[in-house]
Amino acid sequence: MSVSPGDAQDLAKTTFQRYEQHINPGMAQLVKFMGFEGVEVRSEGCYVYTSDGECFLDCLGGPGVFSFGHNPEAITARVHEQLDLMPLSSHLLLNPVAAELAERLARITPGDLQFTFFCNSGAEAVEGALKAARAYTGRAGFVSTIGGYHGKTFGALSATAREVYRTAFEPLVPGFTHVSYGDAEALADAVDEETAAVIVEPIQGEGGIIIPPDGYLTRAREICDETGALLIADEIQTGLGRTGMTWCCDWEDVVPDIMTMGKALGGGVMPLGAFIARAEVWSIFEENPYVHTSTFGGNPLACAAGLAALQTLQEQNLAEAAAQRGEQLLRGLNEAAAKHEEMVTEVRGRGLLVGVEFTHEDIAGLVIAGLSGRKVLAAYGLNNPGTLRLAPPLIISSEQVDEVVEAFADALSSTAAMLEL
Ligand code: PLP
Repeated sequence: MSVSPGDAQDLAKTTFQRYEQHINPGMAQLVKFMGFEGVEVRSEGCYVYTSDGECFLDCLGGPGVFSFGHNPEAITARVHEQLDLMPLSSHLLLNPVAAELAERLARITPGDLQFTFFCNSGAEAVEGALKAARAYTGRAGFVSTIGGYHGKTFGALSATAREVYRTAFEPLVPGFTHVSYGDAEALADAVDEETAAVIVEPIQGEGGIIIPPDGYLTRAREICDETGALLIADEIQTGLGRTGMTWCCDWEDVVPDIMTMGKALGGGVMPLGAFIARAEVWSIFEENPYVHTSTFGGNPLACAAGLAALQTLQEQNLAEAAAQRGEQLLRGLNEAAAKHEEMVTEVRGRGLLVGVEFTHEDIAGLVIAGLSGRKVLAAYGLNNPGTLRLAPPLIISSEQVDEVVEAFADALSSTAAMLEL
């Protein structure tokens, strides 16, 4: 879409007005406050292009959706092909595209994870996983973690642990306990014979890229085995190569009973969520195969995108790329941050899931604004406004990583100057 300067101004103005009147006035104000004058009209590779002719290097990435870059040709071509053939399924006959994707997922997910339920978002995948755990175990309780983020539908929100998102919607689903993340003993104390499942992110994403101590997931697995609770690994943000392995669980060779996926699964082209489970958990569908369903879940278009995404991940060896570029990014950010200890508490990450924790959330906000002023898109984690999160496409080049580091160093220096630090 090419937009002339006059049209561009009109498009931006009308879009802001329409957000104010028909979508979300607060969001429109916030975006204006952050200094974005244009609206997004086109994207390619690591870049997002706006109506006013600006071009941003996208380090927010959806967040975590654009692992294969924006508008990746190998994936859009597959989706176009499927669009011409059959975009949505009848739902009565079997759907070969979903079947093929489910088989591929069983092959590349840990251990004996075998059966997949497809849906349209991360939260919906979490809902399904929680329901499956209750139905399979016949137990009501769930143990989640403080700072954990699992989505905002009722069940998922009950697992999510930030008051600001929960309070207005209470009472939430009963039976959830939240324990300190990374603390295996706290987990052991909370999980008992009433627990249907422990739900945990292998690295907390929205919580601020919190990496648990080595052995945490392994211990969580043991605790679940000792009590008969299921282990649900939420890999919606960490999956598909993001942390330098295909799945973050692979770092510890842990096989969960259920794993949730989303975000990058649709290749950055289609919305696609899923949860995959061990065969015995699927006994919940024996009596009634329609006990849990979704009209659009597993539609051929989204599954075609998923198949192309998995192929791209493997052909381009993107997990390995994430490990290498991630190391470069961490090194660069650490060097820049070392000059500003008064503002930066810690730089941490694994692969291309990287967080920068600031001494105060206002500083995080200023640095994020500084980055967008330097044409780099980034944001804080939804559960941790004091931590900048960087999750660029896994196809990011070494030169582009250098650009991000340079923009970060500049943004830090100008923030320090502004605050007279
Ligand atoms: N689980 C995790 C770990 C996430 O990071 C997110 C979203 O950020 C979700 C679940 C919810 O996914 P969605 O926003 O697609 O519903």
